[in-house]
Amino acid sequence: MGAAALFSHAAEIERRLLVEYPDAHCELDFATPLQLLEATILSAQCTDKRVNMVTPELFKRYPSAAALADANMDELETVIRSTGFYRNKAKSLVGMAQALVDDHGGEVPRTMAELIKLPGVGRKTANVILGNAFGLNEGIVVDTHVARLATRFGFTDETDPVKVEKALLPLFPKDSWTKFSHLLIWHGRRTCDARKPRCEGCSLRDICPSADV
Ligand code: SF4
Repeated sequence: MGAAALFSHAAEIERRLLVEYPDAHCELDFATPLQLLEATILSAQCTDKRVNMVTPELFKRYPSAAALADANMDELETVIRSTGFYRNKAKSLVGMAQALVDDHGGEVPRTMAELIKLPGVGRKTANVILGNAFGLNEGIVVDTHVARLATRFGFTDETDPVKVEKALLPLFPKDSWTKFSHLLIWHGRRTCDARKPRCEGCSLRDICPSADV
């Protein structure tokens, strides 16, 4: 596909997904940037629904970065156990909270460079925080759904998330990057399943290069 065709293909996909999911948003429950950071760390290898069952207790027990930094590890692991990989996640949560207390006055920083220095925080998590807690379009969140759909739509052959993001960014207007991540995640969850994509009822079937393959 030439560059012009690729741009109009991308724009049409975005347009149709916006019609289908006008309300697409982050499905993790949070009220503050810190809460979203905690929920996003817990969401690795876990559904948002499961994370949302655990976070009310987590947020209540540890209402600040300082409280989380001082958490008793056994107690914290018990609270988050059902999200899986709970030992590593507990370490990331406490390490992240300690770094916030030590370097940022207990607040979540607002830049990519500062966020990715926090323990347990990579570019994907940083994009989630910047886009959803601060309304800053610094990048596109590339999770498993976004990476899969980017390939299925023919936007890239890359599988490395950073390279996928690099391929996607020029195709979409900067002010739509956060929303676009949600559109792909919602479509991936609801229609374009990893193993059994429901092409028959898909609104993109006539323009998707992977339809019915
Ligand atoms: S047509 Fe099939 S492969 Fe393409 S986006 Fe829809 S469900 Fe996914």
